[in-house]
Amino acid sequence: MSKVSHDKLKIAVDLDGVLAESMIVWCERANKEFGTRFKMEDLDSWSLWKRFPISKDDFYRILDESWDDWQKIPPTEPEIAEKVARIEKFGDLDIVTGRSKRTVEAARSWVDNQKVRYHRFVRVLGWRDKILLDYDVYIDDAPDLMPLISRSPTARGVLYERPWNRSVEDMPKVLKARSWLQVPALLKRIQTRKS
Ligand SMILES: [Mg+2]
Repeated sequence: MSKVSHDKLKIAVDLDGVLAESMIVWCERANKEFGTRFKMEDLDSWSLWKRFPISKDDFYRILDESWDDWQKIPPTEPEIAEKVARIEKFGDLDIVTGRSKRTVEAARSWVDNQKVRYHRFVRVLGWRDKILLDYDVYIDDAPDLMPLISRSPTARGVLYERPWNRSVEDMPKVLKARSWLQVPALLKRIQTRKS
């Protein structure tokens, strides 16, 4: 009788850096092209082009080209599909990505191949546009998205910790997850506070 009912959350899950470890392939390709020795851990700033002799255009071009090789892109964590499935009970899960139009097919193939279940696959023009969508929770690794979430009256964020977002400071309505296994508990907290 006193059963607690929770609202279903609308959950936006990012692709690059949250499900797919595309930066591994990015590093390989960039190193080949520029003779650099980038490793994942070196990518400690999202705006890499500000610190390294690589332009923003090159950064995104190489990321697009990495998706041409989608079979080579590993998941961010082993058993990613099983881990993501553990959040299904909290609501509807969409994959929301800023992937370029020409890489969408590769991206969808990757997701299907990894057997990650989702409700809708949504492409936005740029990461900033994500906040314009009506999601309750954004699971994302983009440092610059978090302040937008924090200021939004309705949205909440789960920052999936990566080398490039370690300097993101704590802010209201943004929780941090060191791994996918921590995400269900964070969503539970969010859901409880909402209802
Ligand atoms: Mg990302």
